[in-house]
Amino acid sequence: MKKNISMAPWQMITTVMLLTLVISFQVNAQNTLTKQNIQKVLDDAYSKFKDLQEGKNADYIKELATVDPNIFGIALITTDGQVYTEGDIQSMVSIQSVSKVFTMAKDLEDLGPQAIQDKIGVDATGMRFNSIVAVEMQKGKEINPLVNPGAIAASSLIAGADSATKWKNIVQIQSDFAGRQLSLNWPVYVSEAGDNLRNQAIAHLLYAYGRMYFDPVQATDIYTKQCALNVNAKDLAEMASTLANGGVNPVTKKKVVSQATVMYTLPVMATAGLYDDSGIWLFNSGIPGKSGVGGGLLAVCPGKFGIAVVSPPLDAAGNSVKAQKVIQYVVEQLKVNPYWIEPKQ
Ligand code: GLU
Repeated sequence: MKKNISMAPWQMITTVMLLTLVISFQVNAQNTLTKQNIQKVLDDAYSKFKDLQEGKNADYIKELATVDPNIFGIALITTDGQVYTEGDIQSMVSIQSVSKVFTMAKDLEDLGPQAIQDKIGVDATGMRFNSIVAVEMQKGKEINPLVNPGAIAASSLIAGADSATKWKNIVQIQSDFAGRQLSLNWPVYVSEAGDNLRNQAIAHLLYAYGRMYFDPVQATDIYTKQCALNVNAKDLAEMASTLANGGVNPVTKKKVVSQATVMYTLPVMATAGLYDDSGIWLFNSGIPGKSGVGGGLLAVCPGKFGIAVVSPPLDAAGNSVKAQKVIQYVVEQLKVNPYWIEPKQ
């Protein structure tokens, strides 16, 4: 039997008011990513942190010590290709370790996830990014593509029978992610190449353990060049946004890698993207990121946007001080930490 539901006018008004409140709350919860709000949050982040004086340029690569420490640029690119910027997005810095993500992604794309686990390893080493002990303790196994030993091995695995072909393929993948042809910062390359005996030692040790897949001297050289590619904050944000968009560059619309490659790339970034502070970073931001000693830091908000900041002064772990603060602030303000969960009522 049907029962007629009748409401008194006051009940009706209260119900409508409640519904409006619930709907407007939900719309607000989803609406942090409006054009206006994104730009406002970037502007606020810039003013909040621009005068911060903490940290110091890397100087173990001599040329990095000469880079202007006041360069400060922020860029965010959404998965539908909207570009938001604030501050200096013209100045270039060397990409350094951020490049490791994209060389690893290319290996994943070409060889598959099992080969990367077997030939390199994907667990965090828990040691400094250029640790020789980490290699020795595991006899070259579990060396992780986002720190130097695994990254040199990853560069050695890139397709190509000779050094020139491997280099061409590396520049291509990094450029496809960035959406423009990247070029080499020669002074940084020359400075590091003349001084990278430690990385050469790592490459030789890996070679001795059968975990280097090309001539160790040439592999170290290709890796050193890869780290010296020049990028600005917008380039890095476009690289991050291509990951955020499942492998398709949202600006150029080019499919750079498959969704599966992105799915395997992001967890390695989440667990090992910020050197020894990767856990602290994830605790504070909830999203995968990757930093480099040139002062760049990018982070990926899957399905939503890629964000990057360039600011050379680093903390003791080797991560840009301002970049970490800006990205954590933006993630919080935009409520995009994936672990920020609206409970169902
Ligand atoms: N080219 C640098 C090195 O091998 C990269 C280090 C980094 O950014 O972590 O030392």
